Amino acid sequence: MSGMPMLGTRFADELPEMGVSWRAAEPPKPELLVLNEPLAAELGLDPEWLRSDDGVRFLAGVNLPDGAEPVAQGYAGHQFGGYSPRLGDGRALLLGEIGGRDLHLKGSGRTPFSRGGDGLAAVGPMLREYVISEAMHALGIPTTRSLAVIRTGKTIVRENLAPGAILVRVAASHLRVGSFQFARASGDAELLRRLADHAASRHYPGVDPLGLLRGVVEAQAELIAQWMLTGFIHGVMNTDNMTISGETIDYGPCAFMDAFDPATVFSSIDEGGRYAYGNQPAIAQWNLARLAESLLPLLSDADAATADADQERAIEKATAELARFRSRYVAATLDGFRAKLGLTAAIDDVTVTALTEDLLALLKDSEADYTSFFRKLAAGSAPEAFGDWERRWRALEPDIASMNRVNPVYIPRNHLVEEALTAATDGDLAPLHELLETVTAPFTEKPGRERFASPAPPGSGVYRTFC
Ligand code: AMP
Ligand code: MG
Ligand code: MG
Repeated sequence: MSGMPMLGTRFADELPEMGVSWRAAEPPKPELLVLNEPLAAELGLDPEWLRSDDGVRFLAGVNLPDGAEPVAQGYAGHQFGGYSPRLGDGRALLLGEIGGRDLHLKGSGRTPFSRGGDGLAAVGPMLREYVISEAMHALGIPTTRSLAVIRTGKTIVRENLAPGAILVRVAASHLRVGSFQFARASGDAELLRRLADHAASRHYPGVDPLGLLRGVVEAQAELIAQWMLTGFIHGVMNTDNMTISGETIDYGPCAFMDAFDPATVFSSIDEGGRYAYGNQPAIAQWNLARLAESLLPLLSDADAATADADQERAIEKATAELARFRSRYVAATLDGFRAKLGLTAAIDDVTVTALTEDLLALLKDSEADYTSFFRKLAAGSAPEAFGDWERRWRALEPDIASMNRVNPVYIPRNHLVEEALTAATDGDLAPLHELLETVTAPFTEKPGRERFASPAPPGSGVYRTFC
């Protein structure tokens, strides 16, 4: 396609109560910082047009096709366990759909959901989301994607002054657990049903509300297993940051763990460690219970004798679906470690589980770098301390070549990301492009890029993320 695409309006049409019709703020001097050409092509967008003035203004949400109906979406959410009935897109905007996927902006100005916020975003954090989401995609982990980052030409106030930016995000949808909490809290059962139908038709076609809950539970169990296998720490797993589609969303204070330690926390705002690496499966289950609660009015049994019996039956059904999280998560984790260790189906689950548990204990004690350990193991250069464990593993005749297809050489390591963002904020995009090129082909070793495969040099200090 060349030029202006069509933008679908399904969300605005089907769920008008779930958002506010809104427009992006006019950026004073929009300038394309980075464009994801493969993703543009996937969406049928012409990269050359996107780089033109008209295209950049399209990406900034201020040059839209006829019939577009941008929406600031409403949602509720539990933030660090405390409920907020009205969060919503305070600095974001759904432009519409392309090919069934949402085209969405972050940093596009204030909306009726902004509360005290300025509605804006800084270049650094938007590039951070771009790099990490594209790395996650390349690692095979379901995620929202990043199409572009635009410098707006506006200076914004953070700890210091910072250049403003807009991230152009693509997602299967932006429906969240918090969207269901919002619809449930409205007290409008018909709206809740319409939302469930909308979500099912987009992500789990043909299912009823119970099937929707099942689909989300399973997708999230698989997703969290992928995070855990890769050492990804989301950092802010509030219910408004958990999707119905099963994609990772909202890259704020996230980071990858270096040494294996379940207590690892990077986020400066997570003082209690609620969203520590090792807590992520339990928090996901907690969030899914909030989804189940929101769906209860749709799970009731028409032929129950009394309202109480009806309610009880709905709770029973929801509880049974929630219970699937654990078994699905355990199975996905076991499969994942089996692949990371190159163990074939001939080795029984009990053996793989015991070997994995012993390995994780050794990794924790040795403080070895989690990501590179598996590549070293395949290369026969695991640290000395793993000798006895390695002999047990080798006796199982692992398939070495297959290990290197699932264990990444490159992840977006914290110190490398920071280095690239600092340079980009100062106007030098070369380190960002080199980092992107490296982390978007994570399984292929590139000569001369050893630095990208290694943990931060000792003495770099404790890493902290901010959102
Ligand atoms: P998050 O922590 O990114 O999930 O955001 C939580 C809520 O804060 C969402 O409703 C956001 O839209 C809102 N928010 C975050 N940053 C800003 C900002 N700069 N201006 C207005 N709202 C914001
Ligand atoms: Mg959010
Ligand atoms: Mg955020």
